[in-house]
Amino acid sequence: MSGFYKKSLDERLALIKEFAGLEEKEIADLKKYGAMDFEIADRMVENIVGTQQLPLGIATNFVINGKEYIVPMSMEEPSVVAAASKGASIAKITGGFKAESTPPVMIGQIQLLKVKDWGKAEVAIGKAGRTLVDSANEADPVLVKFGGGAKKIETSVIETERGKMLIVHLLVDVRDAMGANAVNTMCEKIAPRLEEISGGESRLKIISNLAIYRTVKATAVFTKKALEESFKKGDLKGEEIIEHILDAYHFAANNIFRACTHNKGIMNGIDAVAIATGQDFRALEAGAHAFASMKGKYTTLTRYYKDKEGNLIGEIELPMAVGLVGGAVKTSPIAGIAVKMLGIKTAEELGQVIACVGLSQNFAAMRALSTEGIQKGHMRLHAKNIAVMAGAKGKEIDRIAAKMAEEKNIRVDRAKELLKESEDK
Ligand code: NAD
Repeated sequence: MSGFYKKSLDERLALIKEFAGLEEKEIADLKKYGAMDFEIADRMVENIVGTQQLPLGIATNFVINGKEYIVPMSMEEPSVVAAASKGASIAKITGGFKAESTPPVMIGQIQLLKVKDWGKAEVAIGKAGRTLVDSANEADPVLVKFGGGAKKIETSVIETERGKMLIVHLLVDVRDAMGANAVNTMCEKIAPRLEEISGGESRLKIISNLAIYRTVKATAVFTKKALEESFKKGDLKGEEIIEHILDAYHFAANNIFRACTHNKGIMNGIDAVAIATGQDFRALEAGAHAFASMKGKYTTLTRYYKDKEGNLIGEIELPMAVGLVGGAVKTSPIAGIAVKMLGIKTAEELGQVIACVGLSQNFAAMRALSTEGIQKGHMRLHAKNIAVMAGAKGKEIDRIAAKMAEEKNIRVDRAKELLKESEDK
């Protein structure tokens, strides 16, 4: 495989065909490109042999700060798009979601080692703050032109098993960018000067994904009446549903095993919009989970409580490093179309939509989990995947999925039986 990156697509495919024992049909599938052809993909990442394709669905009913959105979501899991839309339809009754953002300020970190006098170095860096900020800005005049750029320097000394370290934070307003490249470049630019000032040695120069200065807060009101009516022939009154949801929330808020899955449900929505719009979803994941542990224990990214009328208020707050310039947003054709479908003009607005989808997703999961359970809806939608796993094709997929749902027995062995029965006929 040496020099794989230098080989043509056909040469690469021939090599992996032999190495992994792929069949002609599998190579033909790899050659099926969608909107992103080989040339685009080859410019985005290394050693390309194909493109992975995920379904792109649209979540409906989203009203955020009074504006209606259709929300593109891309992912492999059934029932996520339906759940996000369901949550949004209940929030819509009271006017939808309200969201607000802090300015798009990211943190770059520079690690300084072997400093002789830690206290003096901190003071000296503080004094040179303005010139360091100006120097960082020389690295990105475009960002400065758009009103962004480095704004501030902060320092701290940490004790580690390998001795003290001086950590410099460079705060950068990245405007409509996710900001990692912009911030990393600035950190590398000022590192030599920081070495001179501190007398130390700089090592890591890298953005932090824990974007505590760049957060979105969103809220929605879910009424008793709307919750009650959201079940066709619900046995529970609206008040009871809200009590159940609050029990579920307090379980998650106080138990790390549950909090982890609670937040996974939030990220179902967040990642799906992030993937559809070409965002760095790992950055969002890392930031979200670190933020969830900021208060000394890992807890939920959402919060639920009752208002004076006894309706349910849902809130979410999390870091939101998303961009509309840079990254894959401009290179991936589908990401560009997804952004257009959203009708958003700024990264801030995109972040607000993403946070609201996270809240809606979480609310819908809590509503189902604390009442009928999620498997009923989930398995009905998952039945088609099970039918495919069993080998069904074309119309057989829907027929077998419907039959299994009717029998309330959605399992691969049953799908295989049904498939065999129809083949034997
Ligand atoms: P980028 O460098 O491609 O684009 C940002 C640049 O675009 C800015 O520096 C600026 O010069 C220019 N620009 C033009 N118009 C602008 C506007 N209106 N607002 C802001 N900037 C504007 O992208 P980036 O956002 O700096 O970096 C994102 C990429 O970095 C992602 O692909 C991410 O995956 C990757 N990355 C992430 C990490 C991490 O998260 N830890 C680390 C390294 C790289």
